[in-house]
Amino acid sequence: MSSSIVAAASPEMIARYEPVIGLEVHVQLATHTKIFCGCPTSFGAPPNTNVCPVCLAHPGALPVLNREAVEMAVRASLALHCTVNPMSRFARKNYFYPDLPKGYQISQYDQPVSEHGWIEIEVHGQEKRRIGITRVHMEDDAGKSVHDGFRDSERYTYVDLNRSGTPLIEIVTEPDMRGSDEAYAFLTAIKQVLQYIEVSTCDMEKGHLRCDANVSVRLKGAEKLGTKAEVKNLNSFRFLKLALDYEIGRQVALIESGGRVLQETRLYNPDLGETISMRSKEHAHDYRYFPEPDLVPLRISDAWMAEITGDMVELPVHRRDRFIRDWGLRDYDAQVLTSTRELSDFFERTARASNDPKAAANWVMGDLLGALKADGKEITESPVTPEDLGELVSLIGKGELSGKLGKDIFAKMLGGQGSARAIMERDGLKQISDSGALETMVDEVIAANPKQVEQYRAGKTTVINFLVGQVMKASRGQANTATVNEILKQKLG
Ligand SMILES: [Zn+2]
Repeated sequence: MSSSIVAAASPEMIARYEPVIGLEVHVQLATHTKIFCGCPTSFGAPPNTNVCPVCLAHPGALPVLNREAVEMAVRASLALHCTVNPMSRFARKNYFYPDLPKGYQISQYDQPVSEHGWIEIEVHGQEKRRIGITRVHMEDDAGKSVHDGFRDSERYTYVDLNRSGTPLIEIVTEPDMRGSDEAYAFLTAIKQVLQYIEVSTCDMEKGHLRCDANVSVRLKGAEKLGTKAEVKNLNSFRFLKLALDYEIGRQVALIESGGRVLQETRLYNPDLGETISMRSKEHAHDYRYFPEPDLVPLRISDAWMAEITGDMVELPVHRRDRFIRDWGLRDYDAQVLTSTRELSDFFERTARASNDPKAAANWVMGDLLGALKADGKEITESPVTPEDLGELVSLIGKGELSGKLGKDIFAKMLGGQGSARAIMERDGLKQISDSGALETMVDEVIAANPKQVEQYRAGKTTVINFLVGQVMKASRGQANTATVNEILKQKLG
C-alpha cells in the first residue's frame, strides 16, 4: 500500500470515521537479575557475557522465578488499578526465532498476574478519560539479532543473548482510544507512572518500553467495530503517532474506494513513514500455548500482597490531588510538579522547609527549573538543595529578605556560595524592617527632595514611588518596601 492511497483520504473523509485503537505495551522491569536465572540485566555488557545455562536454554536447565520481578509486576498492576490474581500461571508460547534459543517464550496466557484495570489520560484541552486495561502478564524477553556493526554484516546476522530472559510485563488495553493523540497520552501516562513507582526506566531508546497497536476505523455513530490491523514496531512516541495517523488514513482510503481492510499484521517503516503488510491472518502464528511444566503456579498470598501494597509509594495522581487539596496549588502547577518522582520529591521537601508551599511552587517551577534548563541540568543535579531553597522562601516570607534581595541571593546559591542565611549574614543583606532605622532614612530623603515632596502634597501622589526608590537606594535595597511606604505616607500626609 503506497502513501498515495493515504493521500487519497482527505481530512473531510477521515473526519467521518472514528478510529478505534488498543495498545499492547511491553515494559522491561528494572530488576537486578533476569526473570528465571541469576544473570544480571545490566545494559551494554559485551555480547553473550550475561548468560548461563538457563537463559541459553541448555538441556535440563530449570527456571526459578525471580521474586523481585513478581513484586514489580504487582506494583505495576496496582498502579494501573488492576485486580491481582491470587494465582496465575506461566505458559509456553511456542515459536521459532534465531534469538530465542528455547524455541518458546515463557509467558502467561489464560491466567495472567492481573486484570481489569484502568488509567486516566488527558489530551490537551479535553476532559480526562479512563482507558481500560484488559490484563497485565509477565514474560521473559528474547535475545537480540544484531544485523550490523560487523565487517561481514552483509552476509551474517549475529546473536546476542544478554537480553534473553530479561523480565517483561505486557500491558494490554481495551480498544478504548479514539485517535493517535489518545494513544500518545496513554503511553505518556504509562511511562510516567511506571517510572514513578520505579518498576521500569521506560527508556524507549534502550527498548525498555515497546508498543504495538490494534487499529480499526468505523463510520462515526456505527456500533460495529471495523476489521483491525495490528501495527508493530512503534518504538518511539513520535513513531507511534505517525504510524497510527498513517494507518487510520490508509484504512479510511481503502474503505472509501470500495475496498476492505484485511486482518493482518503490519510493520511501521519509519524511513518510508508507512505501515507495510507483514503477514495476513491466514499466516498468523499458532503459538500452541500450554502450561509451563517447569514452573509451579504463581501464588500471591494475602500476606505478600499486604507487604507489596505497604511498600507502594504515593501515586503521582494522588500526590497531585494532595498538593491541590492541602496546599492550594493550581491544577496546572500540581501537574508540572508531579510530572516525575524526582521533581515532586524535590518540591515536597522545599515546600515543607519553606512553610509556604505556594511560594515554594513558584520558586521551583520558575527560578529553579529555569536556571537548571539554561544549564542543561536535571532536577537531580540541582546545586541548591530543597532545604536551602525552602529556607530562602521562608526568609522572604518572614520579611527578613526582600523579593529583590532573594533573587540576588538565589543566584549566589546557584553559584555554590552556601545557604541563603549564610550569604545574607556574610554580605550584610538582611532586610531592614526596624522602623527607627527606616525613619532616619526617610527623613533624609524628604529633606533632600523638597520639590517631589511639594508635588506629593499638591496631590500628585504617584511621586511617592520615586521617594520609596530613593530610600531603597540609600539602604542598598535592604529596606522593607512596605514599611517605607507606610512611614513616608505618615510623614507626608
Ligand atoms: Zn542466565
